[in-house]
Amino acid sequence: MLDLRLRDVVMRYSDLAAPALDLPMLEVAAGESLAVTGPSGAGKSTFINVITGLERPTEGRVEWQGTDIARLPEAARDTWRARNVGLVMQDFHLFPGLGALENVLLPARFRHLRLPAALRERAADLLERVGIELGARGIETFSRGEMQRVAIARALLPHPGVIIADEPTASLDRDSAAAVCDLLTTLAGEEKATLIAVTHDPALSARLARRITLAGGRCADIDGDAA
Ligand code: ADP
Repeated sequence: MLDLRLRDVVMRYSDLAAPALDLPMLEVAAGESLAVTGPSGAGKSTFINVITGLERPTEGRVEWQGTDIARLPEAARDTWRARNVGLVMQDFHLFPGLGALENVLLPARFRHLRLPAALRERAADLLERVGIELGARGIETFSRGEMQRVAIARALLPHPGVIIADEPTASLDRDSAAAVCDLLTTLAGEEKATLIAVTHDPALSARLARRITLAGGRCADIDGDAA
């Protein structure tokens, strides 16, 4: 469970254009949930890249539990992200040819020379929790809704303090979207993870504690105590 404090964050891709992101102050308490919306080009991807340390802002501080990840060198940001962030993306990023369990374990395999038995157990438990049966069936035979549930289990495996979701329900039919929405919010609560989701799904947005709207890289609207 991590808290986020952004201070004077500016991301400029060019000196000529307006900044892609310009957020003087944004705070998310540990364990809280936040929905981020906004039209195309509003800065949502840039926001995700900056708060996950995938990109370093031109200016400002990105503090997670007091650690300013904007100051960390790239390798340290990568390590920090692997330890602390569970990512759930619109397109799942699962590995075809592998089953559900192996997909959940894949990122952990890169981090451990020998996979601890406890991790394998947790992966199986998480899959059961998201309603996916264990088995050898290749992930490519799963429905999109099932794929996203596997991706949620994978994101939660290392007990991340924060879950970042990028349009997690956008490519799903309505029933699957509702199931994913329910799992994300419920599991983030159970795991006491801070949850930040970029979403245009009103059902998901309504389940999160606070909402902000980005426009032109700025925070145009705040619903809840987001400042
Ligand atoms: P959204 O995700 O809301 O569609 P983005 O964060 O992708 O918005 O983009 C915000 C602005 O920053 C846009 O004007 C976009 O063209 C610009 N931008 C994003 N990434 C880059 C980049 N790597 N290089 C130059 N401009 C970029």
